[in-house]
Amino acid sequence: MTQPSIDRDELIALTVQLARIDSTNPTLVPGASGERAVGQTVADWMAARGWDVTVEWPAPDRPNVVGTIKGNGGPSLLINAHLDTVGAKAATKQVRVEGDRIYGRGVLDTKGGLAAALIAADAVASLPPAGDIIIAAVCDEEASSIGSEHLLASTSAAGAVVIEPTDLQVVVAHPGFAVIECVFHGRASHTSKPEDGINAITPAVVFVRSVERYAAQLARQDDDALFGRPTAQVTRIEGGVELFTTPDRCTVIVELRTLSHQTTAADIDSIDSLLDEARARGHSVESRQVIVREPLSDNTDQPITALLIDSLSELGKPAHVVGARYWTDAALVDAHDIPVAVFGPGGHGIHSDDEWVSIDDLAICSATLAKVMAEFGQNVTASRR
Ligand SMILES: [Zn+2]
Repeated sequence: MTQPSIDRDELIALTVQLARIDSTNPTLVPGASGERAVGQTVADWMAARGWDVTVEWPAPDRPNVVGTIKGNGGPSLLINAHLDTVGAKAATKQVRVEGDRIYGRGVLDTKGGLAAALIAADAVASLPPAGDIIIAAVCDEEASSIGSEHLLASTSAAGAVVIEPTDLQVVVAHPGFAVIECVFHGRASHTSKPEDGINAITPAVVFVRSVERYAAQLARQDDDALFGRPTAQVTRIEGGVELFTTPDRCTVIVELRTLSHQTTAADIDSIDSLLDEARARGHSVESRQVIVREPLSDNTDQPITALLIDSLSELGKPAHVVGARYWTDAALVDAHDIPVAVFGPGGHGIHSDDEWVSIDDLAICSATLAKVMAEFGQNVTASRR
């Protein structure tokens, strides 16, 4: 099959254009720009090419921009890339092209990948593809994923690619996570009369030690090739009010990295039973799950994965399926029973002061996505005819 051609200069220009529009996530940085302006630019770009464009608002000022290229009635393909970035110093926001690199906040995570997907979809639009190609540029991936959650409530597809910087590897699995807030209650008293109070910090410290022992136990497990191993750690502790008051409250935040739906529940239960030990010693403690995100289950054997791998190797970039250590919106796609892989360019410095994306990688990423879009569902369509 012929390879749809990708215009490298257009790809660079679009990446630079998108990255120059500040879209720092306002949940992470209060008062930050958010996705409205960059979303408008993406919507205009899609509309100028005659795509069906809808803009949805998962929250005020927080858009999802969804552009659809009509296919021939075959299975549809969803490409999901996020519009938001984490915060940055002014210098990091300066976008510039140098040699094979584009520098600037968001070029790698993930506006370069979004540009690569847009250019790829434009290149296959006239074929037309077997099924609809849905390009979703979503908000809020860097905080609470309200964009992808909102999108998936009303959008389905036979396969999906979530764009993130993967160094052109095909990510088919990653852990989930859970954050649990544990609040120990005591009773305040003047410190001259500790016997009138109950110190909330003391049992909290015992609990922290027990979480550490649990984490050490998890660390002895064998590394899973795709998922790594589960972890547990205390990420925040906050207790006490003043110098001369017996502390009546101590809050401990525990974060877990989990490997499967079953282990998510089991890991949360383990923390609960450590809290039960504190309760059995007479301490008052309550807990709540602040956020639980399931893992991306193993998508190695899905057609979308095979198509990505084949397309990369035809372009002279042999790739392997890999697991990631970080979490992505692909887990939400997976939870809606849409086969999904995570894919994107390489570079350096996501969430750091020195972020850049490789232009060669962007071009390969875009060419790969174009091939995938051109070929996804071909067999299914053929067999229907
Ligand atoms: Zn990202």
